[in-house]
Amino acid sequence: MTSHEPIEATEKLFTRTRSRGYREWVRFGTYFLIIGIFAFLLGTHKLDRFEDLVRDSFLKHVAWGQAHPGIVLIEISETALDEVGPWPWPRSYHAIMARLLSEWKAAAIVLDLDLSEPTDSKNDQDLAQSLEKVEAPLYFPVELKPQKEKKFWVHGMPVVLDKGEGKKVWVHAMPEFEKKARAIGHNDLTPDADGILRRFDPFITEGKETHPFLPLRVAFDQMKKPIPSSPEWKTFEDPQGKILIPWSGAWDRGFKRYNYAELIHSFYAIQKGMRPVIDPGLIAGKICLVGPVTSGATELKVTPLYAAYAKIGIYAQIMNAALTGNWVRPVSFWGNGICLLGSGCLATLLFVTLSGTWALVAGPLLVAGWFAFCFGVFAKWHLGFYVIYPALLMLSLFIFSAIYVQATAMREKSHLFHLATRDGLTDLYVIRHFRMIMNQIVREASLRKQPLSVILLDIDNFKKINDTYGHLAGDIVLKRTAATILALIRKHRPFREIDFAARYGGEEFIVMLRRTGLQEAAETTAERIRKQIEETRFEWEGKPISVTVSLGVATLRPGENVPDAMVHRSDMALYKAKESGKNRVCTEGQ
Ligand code: GH3
Ligand code: MG
Ligand code: MG
Repeated sequence: MTSHEPIEATEKLFTRTRSRGYREWVRFGTYFLIIGIFAFLLGTHKLDRFEDLVRDSFLKHVAWGQAHPGIVLIEISETALDEVGPWPWPRSYHAIMARLLSEWKAAAIVLDLDLSEPTDSKNDQDLAQSLEKVEAPLYFPVELKPQKEKKFWVHGMPVVLDKGEGKKVWVHAMPEFEKKARAIGHNDLTPDADGILRRFDPFITEGKETHPFLPLRVAFDQMKKPIPSSPEWKTFEDPQGKILIPWSGAWDRGFKRYNYAELIHSFYAIQKGMRPVIDPGLIAGKICLVGPVTSGATELKVTPLYAAYAKIGIYAQIMNAALTGNWVRPVSFWGNGICLLGSGCLATLLFVTLSGTWALVAGPLLVAGWFAFCFGVFAKWHLGFYVIYPALLMLSLFIFSAIYVQATAMREKSHLFHLATRDGLTDLYVIRHFRMIMNQIVREASLRKQPLSVILLDIDNFKKINDTYGHLAGDIVLKRTAATILALIRKHRPFREIDFAARYGGEEFIVMLRRTGLQEAAETTAERIRKQIEETRFEWEGKPISVTVSLGVATLRPGENVPDAMVHRSDMALYKAKESGKNRVCTEGQ
C-alpha cells in the first residue's frame, strides 16, 4: 500500500458525489416533467373519456336516494304490443289513456309520443276531444330534428331549394293537441361520442325558440317553483356545458311501472263494474310518464346502468334528481388543477423521502386512497372530482421512483462489488476474491480433467526502484505492469478461456490460465509477459527506468482439487528464477 491510494479513492468518491448531485436534479426534473404532462392532459381534457368510465362505475354503485314514489311509468312494452297490435296504435287508444289518467286524478301526464303528423281525422279528433276534458296538467315534447331538404321536380328532375344541411328545426305536436298542453319541453338526449348517454341540456335554443328539458319542466311545476334559468345550472355543468344524469338505480326496479294495456283493461273493467287489475288509487296524485319501452325502439338509450334504458326511465331519473335536489356537482377546472398539483407534489415528497417497504406500498396506497376519497365525496356530497388524472399521475410518479431507486441500488451495488473485489492501484482482482474464483475453477478443471496453470510474477529489484525514484514512481511501475499483463492475456489468449489476474502481494502478481498445460503457459504466455515488460519503456521525470520481472509457472496435477499446492510450486519456481539471475521464467520441477 502506498500513501497515494487513499487520495485517489477520495478523488473517486468526490466525483461520484458530484455526479450523484447531478442525478438528483435529473430525478426532480423528471418528477416535475411528469406533473407538467398531466397538467397539460387535464387542461386539454385528453383523459376525460376515462373519467367518464370511472364516473359511470361510481354512478352504478351510488343510488341517489330512493326512486321518488310520486313518479309512475306507463309502459308501452312488448306485452302491450302483443296484446294491442303493432305500433303505431290508433290515437284513439291514447285518447282513452288521457281520459283515464285524468279521471283517475293523475298529478301530471307526460305523453312522450310522436304526435306531429296527422293520422286519420277520426282518430285525431278523438284524441283532441279527450285532451279537451283532461284536467291534469298535460305535457308534450318538442323534438329537435334535422331539417329536411326542400325540393321540387321539373320534368322528373329534382330541384333542391334548401338542403337543410346541419340545420335543425323544432318539431311540435299538431297544434290541436299542443294547445291543450300545460307546457312543452325538449326531449333531446344525445349520447356522448362513445354512444353512452350521460348528460342532458337543461335548455336548448334553436332558431327563435328556447325550450327547457321536458322532465325538468314537469318536476319544477310539481314543486311549484320556477325552473332555474341557464346561469343557475352553472355549478352543475360539466366541461361540455351539460348536466350529468344522476341515476337513482335501474328504472325497472325503483319506479312504479304499469303496463299501458293493463291500465286500459282496468279502466273498462271499472266501467263494467268488475275489479280492475290496477287500482285508480295507484295513479292518483302521481306524475305519469307514458311512452314506449320496447326493445328496438329509438327511445331506448345506452346508459352507464343498462345497455337499453327507456327514455321515460331517463325522464324519471331526471325528475327524481330535480325533486330531491340530488345532482352531481362537477368540481371546477381550478379545483381539479389544484388537486392534481397537490397530489403530484405529495406523491413526489413521499417517494423521495420514503424507503424500504413503505416506498413500495406508498404508490398503490396513494392511488387506492384517492379512489376511496373520490368515491366517498361523490356518494356523500355528490361532488365529482376528476379521479383518473391524479391517480395516473401518482402511479406514473411511483413507477418512475421505483425504477430510479432500483437503478441507483444496482449502480451502488456494482460499485461496492468493484470496490470489494478490485485492487485500488492496479484495478486487478484482490487476492481474496481471486482465491474464491481459483478454488471454483480448480474444482471444475479437476472434475473435467482439464489442464490448468498459474504464473506467479515478481518485479525484479523493486525496492531499488522505490528507493531511486520514489514511491510514486514505484506505483506507476506497478500500474503499468498490471496493465501490460492484462493486455497480453486479453490479446493472445482465446476469449473463451477467461483467464484471471490478481495482485498477489506488494509487487507480485498471479495469473491463472485455463485449459493450459505447463509448457504452453511457460513458453508462450509467461515468456511473452517477461519479454513485453522488458521491452516496455518506463520513464520517470524524463529518466528511463529499467523494469524486468521473474516468473514461476506451475500446473495442476491429477488428483488435485485445491489450488494451494500448485500455487506453492509456482512460488518455488519463482524463487528459482530469482536465484538463477532474475528476468526469466522457471517452471516447477526444473
Ligand atoms: P527482488 O528482485 O528480490 O524481488 O527484490 P525486491 O526489491 O523486489 O524485493 P522485495 O520483495 O523485498 O521488495 C518489495 C518492495 O515493494 C517492498 C515495498 O516497499 C514495495 N512495495 C510494496 N507495495 C508497494 C506499493 O504499493 N507501492 C510501492 N511504490 N512500493 C511497494
Ligand atoms: Mg521483487
Ligand atoms: Mg516481492
